Amino acid sequence: MPETSTALLQQDRPAPLTVLTEEEEMFRRSVRDFAREKVQPLARKMDEEAHFDSALLREFFDLGLMGIEIPEEYGGAGGSFFQSILAIEEISYADASAGVIVDVQNTLVSNIFMRWASEDLKRRYFPRLVKDTLGAFALSEAGSGSDAFAMACRATETSDGFVLNGQKLWITNGNEAGLFIVFANANPSVGYKGITAFVVEKGAPGFRVGKKEDKLGIRASSTCELLFEDCHVPRENVMG
Ligand SMILES: Cc1cc2nc3c(=O)[nH]c(=O)nc-3n(C[C@H](O)[C@H](O)[C@H](O)COP(=O)(O)OP(=O)(O)OC[C@H]3O[C@@H](n4cnc5c(N)ncnc54)[C@H](O)[C@@H]3O)c2cc1C
Repeated sequence: MPETSTALLQQDRPAPLTVLTEEEEMFRRSVRDFAREKVQPLARKMDEEAHFDSALLREFFDLGLMGIEIPEEYGGAGGSFFQSILAIEEISYADASAGVIVDVQNTLVSNIFMRWASEDLKRRYFPRLVKDTLGAFALSEAGSGSDAFAMACRATETSDGFVLNGQKLWITNGNEAGLFIVFANANPSVGYKGITAFVVEKGAPGFRVGKKEDKLGIRASSTCELLFEDCHVPRENVMG
């Protein structure tokens, strides 16, 4: 092949994933420095105590690590999904529990909001997720892990929203979260197609956080049971 064609082909190719852009490299470096300096020294204590340091969590928010992909117009950092992954890798190297907390916030909660939430939900909840509110993703149940479609949690429609009944298990951030994306089936007659996501706030009537699991690892990341007993969710908090 003539030399010029080879050069052209190389130009058209996207950069390999192992080569970071200058911006990504700077971002990774700053998260790495923070993680080694602030997170790593606390890892053992937090794991032994099965408790995540609230001041450290505050620092995650202050550094913009809890809304990496959230657009700037809502107060987020306006970064990319790939940047979230870089941050999670660096933080996990220092402490796996911290990595899980940052992971759920960015790649599950914020990401689902970006894809499925109404503009109203984004305006109400993105600024809080960026500033001080931890999110949780509540899908699994005692009889519904890998087989998520087998969920027993039910949503019954009312005149102004839905009522949730059921139990969720092993929900990361359950103890500290202020906001929960909860999956329930609103129409079991059509099987998994009846499953809908609901945004539930901590303290909502009929909702409470139950038992916290005593785990063998990543102990500073809470893994909890959630209980819903006639928990009313207003229609504007239904997400897709
Ligand atoms: C620390 C921790 C944090 C978690 N955080 C969350 C959270 O934030 N939100 C949430 O919703 N859930 C969470 N989970 C739950 C997690 O998603 C489930 O544990 C997972 O989906 C697996 O479900 P299970 O434990 O019921 O295992 P099962 O589904 O019972 O699977 C047990 C084993 O059987 C295998 N298996 C299952 N089905 C098949 C099949 N058809 N063919 C072959 N093999 C199969 C699986 O690979 C696995 O090895 C968490 C769990 C843990 C341990």
